[in-house]
Amino acid sequence: MTEPNSADRPSFWHGTERVVNGIAQELCTLDDGVAWFTSLPPARRQEVLHEAGLYAMQAHITASDGRAGVARSGVKPTANPSVMICMDPPRYGFSGLPADEHVTAFRVLVCVFAVADTRRRQTYCKNSCGHAWHNLPRPTEAP
Ligand SMILES: [Zn+2]
Repeated sequence: MTEPNSADRPSFWHGTERVVNGIAQELCTLDDGVAWFTSLPPARRQEVLHEAGLYAMQAHITASDGRAGVARSGVKPTANPSVMICMDPPRYGFSGLPADEHVTAFRVLVCVFAVADTRRRQTYCKNSCGHAWHNLPRPTEAP
């Protein structure tokens, strides 16, 4: 018996990058991601927020991606993380938010990233691209 998620995958596939991109590409749900996030110790949550902020930055999110992502996240538009991500340019200091806002910050960040990254996959990356994180194996795919 082999575990489909642990067999010969580089460590690349674990952690923030995997979860954030998994949600963006609908390989797992936002709730799965939030469950993973809340299982982490507080210090690690801050690292994840910092990392996820870098991915959002690299995805070149716009203020309209921010609004669309906030709507998708289910977080109130007046919450601190929602306000920060909708700024032009967005503010990324999510890991500096109080601990009780880390889960909402994670939801907002991941959803906004998903909006921007989906657009990129449908345009620039259409058909094929060399981004490793855009070529994640599907969970149901045979080896
Ligand atoms: Zn790509």
